[in-house]
Amino acid sequence: MPLLEFTSKGIYCKQADVYLDPWRGVDKALISHGHSDHARWGTKQYITNEINVPIIKHRLGNIIASGRKYNETFTINGVQFSFHPAGHVPGSSQIRAEYKGEIWVFTGDYKTQADGISTVFEPVPCHTFITESTFGLPVFQWEQPQKVHDSINQWWAQNHSEKTTSLLMGYSLGKVQRLLKHLDSSISKIYTHGATEHMTQVLRQFIDFPRTELITRDTTKKEIEGSLVLAPPAVLGSAWIKKLGLLSTGYASGWMAFRGARRRRAVDRAFVLSDHADWKGLLSAIRATGCENVITTHGYTELFAQYLKEQGWNARTQKTQYESETEEILVAE
Ligand SMILES: [Zn+2]
Repeated sequence: MPLLEFTSKGIYCKQADVYLDPWRGVDKALISHGHSDHARWGTKQYITNEINVPIIKHRLGNIIASGRKYNETFTINGVQFSFHPAGHVPGSSQIRAEYKGEIWVFTGDYKTQADGISTVFEPVPCHTFITESTFGLPVFQWEQPQKVHDSINQWWAQNHSEKTTSLLMGYSLGKVQRLLKHLDSSISKIYTHGATEHMTQVLRQFIDFPRTELITRDTTKKEIEGSLVLAPPAVLGSAWIKKLGLLSTGYASGWMAFRGARRRRAVDRAFVLSDHADWKGLLSAIRATGCENVITTHGYTELFAQYLKEQGWNARTQKTQYESETEEILVAE
């Protein structure tokens, strides 16, 4: 019997009778991070990293959730568990399980580049590594994030000088806060859409961010002229966007690395900035664990597992219901 198995409800540890990021409601679940495909409603008891507790409560309402520190071990029916930084978004964790000397690690989502807001990814030695592979193709190779942040600030400064408002869009948990953290607030004021503002408020107890102001019914076009507005991509084509006046639109996502993505999204500027590991990041993470077995769960699972097999790993894919939040963004069109 493997330590972790894949069931119709999600990844299951039978020995501890606990699920990891289940996609159906269960009695007890360990949760890797707050994105909606990993932290779902309907479970009686959630156990997660302490930073995730207010994030998940903000998203799921009045739930029972307890927080653990990174690297803190706790035992359920003889199985030792711990959460380790995954570097994906604030609070994101790899989940380690050890029983009778056998060690499994489930990554949830992760990235190996530092982003300035999430605790940096730490490799965790294990025998079996259950990994995402959202960008598991060699074409995906990220630039230095600072270059992307610099070009965002230059775009904003240029728009500001032309009395044009910059609308910068990104996913509400993680991406938008990463963008905000690196904005040059000396250029002008930073405004937010409600969805962006509320999640950012949750994270302000852990992270220092520049000041933001929520756009309300009373906010006028004149007030926000030349400023930067942070919002989720779902606002594209909505009535909300019309009150912003003269706009230049920008969208930050790893998917912008795809040729044609900019045209499909109909935005003025595309910024390639991902919260997932690129090809080299995935490989370096796997190597650093020293694992023998790899299970790929979402993204380019087949091609990536095939490559790993050719390199000598015992690799296979496993169908799950994790989607990568990036797909939700594409659906939001
Ligand atoms: Zn995620």
